[in-house]
Amino acid sequence: MSDARVNLFGLSREGLEGFFAGLGEKPFRARQLMTWMYRFGNADFATMTDISKALRTRLAEIAEIRTPEIRSLHDAGDGTRKWMLSMDGGQAIETVFIPEPARGTLCISSQVGCAMDCSFCATGKQGFNRNLSAADIVGQVWLANRELGYRQDGDRIITNVVFMGMGEPLANYRQVLPAIRVLIDDFGFNISRRRVTVSTSGLVPQIDRLAEDCNVALAVSLHAADDALRDALVPINRRHPIEELLEACWRYAERGAGRHITFEYVMLDGVNDGEADMRRLAKLLANRPAKVNLIPFNPFPGTDYRRSPLPVIERCRDQLLRKGVRTTIRRTRGDDIDAACGQLAGQVNDRMRYRLGNKLVSISARAS
Ligand code: SAH
Ligand code: SF4
Repeated sequence: MSDARVNLFGLSREGLEGFFAGLGEKPFRARQLMTWMYRFGNADFATMTDISKALRTRLAEIAEIRTPEIRSLHDAGDGTRKWMLSMDGGQAIETVFIPEPARGTLCISSQVGCAMDCSFCATGKQGFNRNLSAADIVGQVWLANRELGYRQDGDRIITNVVFMGMGEPLANYRQVLPAIRVLIDDFGFNISRRRVTVSTSGLVPQIDRLAEDCNVALAVSLHAADDALRDALVPINRRHPIEELLEACWRYAERGAGRHITFEYVMLDGVNDGEADMRRLAKLLANRPAKVNLIPFNPFPGTDYRRSPLPVIERCRDQLLRKGVRTTIRRTRGDDIDAACGQLAGQVNDRMRYRLGNKLVSISARAS
């Protein structure tokens, strides 16, 4: 039975070395296996010719390389591609590939649903179901590479990976950290740590841990420049208010040798796009290692928010630029297939809804 076998997919190099040590094998076996799995996209022990036949047979008995499965594929008119991947129990998560002239970005999910309950987010409105395993997270990159026709000797198709799909990555730290390690490992996907971005709604203790463990690029979903408004938009702010969050950000940037933090700011018409909002935002971020990314709000069924009109978004950008804050406007991609930021809803069954403090507020179930 496959359940009895250990899944080697998604283990970090240290984890795999531990596994091989348990079999009395040398650490270099981990590097061999990683090369086969991640560089050659191979999930079949039988074809791994530089591993002895006896060991391959043993591996097939006790271990497996189990990757997620694709349930459906959607292509947007602008080249954006979205896969819905099947998880256990009828759940599904979404992974989005966004091609651009000089890079290819894969936007991956870290949880089925999300418990953070941000008021403007389709994933948040679905509620939380479960954390993804490191194998599920790494598997999204593996599958997308395969589907996009990646050849090891060819140019990279996926140059950047962003944790901006479903879920709050830092709420699933135990699985996200080994997954990041595989993404940046020379024998894994070998992606530069500057090209792996973790986006968080602001879990301060985990931001500090990430700084220590693995200094990848950090994006923070700020969305408001005062606590009263941020409390309403991003409820985790009630636990870690703006000042505390920003202090953690500057500590993080310092560890990364002055690299900037990206602050995401969703543009909600009449909610957070006023001149006073931008004045406050500029005050918080001026003369800091910060960059602002203004994200036009992507609507979804059942929301009352509206996207700020483009002239307003441009006015906000100009106001911030005048104060010396580096600011860009995110181009909306893939919205015709609901693949844009915050539109990823996947399929969340036996939905559970948590509020701050993990107090269970309501549970509902939906047939798959
Ligand atoms: N949970 C993490 C990462 C996933 S969300 C986080 O919140 O940072 C990725 C980005 O999309 C976040 O900045 C999030 O605030 C933003 N977002 C969520 N819903 C959105 C929507 N409806 N329109 C535009 N951006 C949205
Ligand atoms: Fe979760 Fe991020 Fe959506 Fe907030 S914006 S509910 S943290 S996925």
